[in-house]
Amino acid sequence: MSESAASRADSTTSPLPAEVVIVGAGPVGLFQIFELGLLGISAHIIDSLPQVGGQCTELYPEKPIYDIPALPVCGAQELIDRLMEQSKPFNATFHLGQEVTELAIQDDGKILVGTSAGTRLLAGAVVIAAGVGSFQPRRLGVPGIEALEGRSVHYRIKSAADFHDRDLVICGGGDSALDWTVALCGKARSLTLVHRRAEFRAAPATVARMRELVAAGKMTLFEGNVAEAHSETEGGEPRLARVVLQSANSTARREVRADRLVAFFGLHPKLGPIAEWGLELEKKALKVDTEKFQTNVPGIFAIGDINTYPGKKKLILSGFHEAALAAFAIQHHLYPEKRQFLQYTTTSPIMHKRLGVAGAEAS
Ligand SMILES: Cc1cc2nc3c(=O)[nH]c(=O)nc-3n(C[C@H](O)[C@H](O)[C@H](O)COP(=O)(O)OP(=O)(O)OC[C@H]3O[C@@H](n4cnc5c(N)ncnc54)[C@H](O)[C@@H]3O)c2cc1C
Repeated sequence: MSESAASRADSTTSPLPAEVVIVGAGPVGLFQIFELGLLGISAHIIDSLPQVGGQCTELYPEKPIYDIPALPVCGAQELIDRLMEQSKPFNATFHLGQEVTELAIQDDGKILVGTSAGTRLLAGAVVIAAGVGSFQPRRLGVPGIEALEGRSVHYRIKSAADFHDRDLVICGGGDSALDWTVALCGKARSLTLVHRRAEFRAAPATVARMRELVAAGKMTLFEGNVAEAHSETEGGEPRLARVVLQSANSTARREVRADRLVAFFGLHPKLGPIAEWGLELEKKALKVDTEKFQTNVPGIFAIGDINTYPGKKKLILSGFHEAALAAFAIQHHLYPEKRQFLQYTTTSPIMHKRLGVAGAEAS
């Protein structure tokens, strides 16, 4: 089944059947695809972010990791790329940019999974690999901003063209803020970058380029924050018209015309709907047993940073082990009559076949 077909399903259509649904495409969720695939079980995987990788990709893509077995050093993004490559033979269906908002056990034990984008899946088992929760953008703390969000106030740029020929204010001091500032300078009608302090976290070369643009009079840099947002009505809807900026170093204020504002304040994790699914929690983590990594609800498993048990360590390594054991438990949950035995990837013909590697000699 294609991703688009899956994503098109909405609450008016029957949910699509799925063997297993994995909630969260961080490193541990991605490895779960692989471990299930080795046992011949297919998976759908959902993440609220528009890309896979969880904390590794979102928080520290360039940083080296030193405690992945047999990889003395591995970049965080490189680890995610390797996990994607490893899980490729198993053709998981990815549903990105949508939060899992609904999880409901049906009378027959199947689990209905619903997302913010209207995707509905009916799963034999669910693995929650939701890490520290779904990442949400940190929002601008200015009165009245909610009414403007999604139309003239944004926390992510989907299409650069939406900001061309606009009076644009960009807030933030990290890579996203600076990259977009440099990219949109000259394309926006006017551009003001607002950052609360003189130092930037972004790549030095981009910061230097931004300073050149300021020196050339092509954009404005303001050290401070947005204190007020004022709107006007356009087509019956409120639209941002101007902002008042408050200096970080004095009581000075400056009013700036702005019909688009983008704030790049980073993301923060939110446990969100997971806390409302009737699963047993301890300190915001899902309690599991250490044999199956199953929650208090049969058929719902939890692995990686989201779970807790005596001795739990929030490490990628621990999550990989949990994914392996959960896969066996899921196989037994889905097919209790099936005999389970351990096979090695080195020697198992059936695993070779599933992996699509040379020597796939048997069924
Ligand atoms: C700076 C830093 C350095 C680190 N260094 C190391 C290290 O050297 N070694 C190590 O082992 N660990 C390290 N860690 C920890 C490691 O990154 C985590 O243990 C790991 O990312 C956990 O993986 P996960 O897949 O369980 O969760 P995550 O990586 O958090 O991924 C969970 C995913 O689930 C998604 N999600 C959550 N809720 C929902 C929902 N309702 N709907 C849809 N999607 C949802 C999230 O958007 C996210 O993408 C580090 C962490 C940080 C912050």
